[in-house]
Amino acid sequence: MSLHYARLRFGEKTHFTCLRCGQCCTRGPNVGLTAYDVHRIARYLGVDWRELKGKYVVAVIADMVAVPTLRGTIDGKCVFLEYLDGTPSCRIYPARPMRCRLYPFMPYSPGNTETIYLDTCCPGLNTEKEAEPPWKCLKEYYVEAKRHYAKLYHLVFQEGCEPLEALEKTIEDCAGEAQQTPTVKTFKTRQL
Ligand code: SF4
Ligand code: SF4
Repeated sequence: MSLHYARLRFGEKTHFTCLRCGQCCTRGPNVGLTAYDVHRIARYLGVDWRELKGKYVVAVIADMVAVPTLRGTIDGKCVFLEYLDGTPSCRIYPARPMRCRLYPFMPYSPGNTETIYLDTCCPGLNTEKEAEPPWKCLKEYYVEAKRHYAKLYHLVFQEGCEPLEALEKTIEDCAGEAQQTPTVKTFKTRQL
C-alpha cells in the first residue's frame, strides 16, 4: 500500500480543484476497467467492444484472473490522452472509466462504502475549494465492479474457463446490463 493514500470517511471533506494538468493520465497504463466501462467506451466511439481489444484495452493476468485496463503508450500516457493546443484532454471524457471519474479518490472496500482513499499525489489537492468525496459515483462503481468480478470469478473458479476466455465472456454477458447504465448523452461533457 502506497504511503501516498489518505483515508476519508463519510462526512469528511477535503480541498480539491482539478487543475486539468493531466498528471493522472500520464503515470502508467493502469486504469482498471469493468465490463461496463468497456461497453460505455465502445458505445461512445461507435464501435463493437471487440474493436477496443489490443488497440485501447489490454488485459493483465494476475492470479488466474484477467483484469482489463486501458492501454498505455510507450511513455506511460493513457492511449486516450491528447493535447489540444498544448492542453491535456481526454478523448473519451463523456465515457471515461469509473476510476477516472473518481480520481483523485479511489475505492477503499466494497464492504465499507463510507470510507474512500485519496491519492495525495494529485496536485489539485489543498487548493482553495472544499470538496466532498464522490460517494454516489463510488457506490455506482461498486455495483458494477461486484457484478463484473462475480461473473469473472464464477467463470474461472466454478466453470473452469481460462482467464482471457472468462474475461471475454464476462464482457459479453454484461452487454445487456450495460445498456441500462446511463447513456453517454447524460454524462458531463467537460473536457479534462
Ligand atoms: S485529478 Fe489531479 S492529477 Fe488529475 S488532472 Fe486533475 S489535478 Fe491533475
Ligand atoms: S480515459 Fe481519459 S481521464 Fe482516464 S486516464 Fe485516459 S485520458 Fe485520462
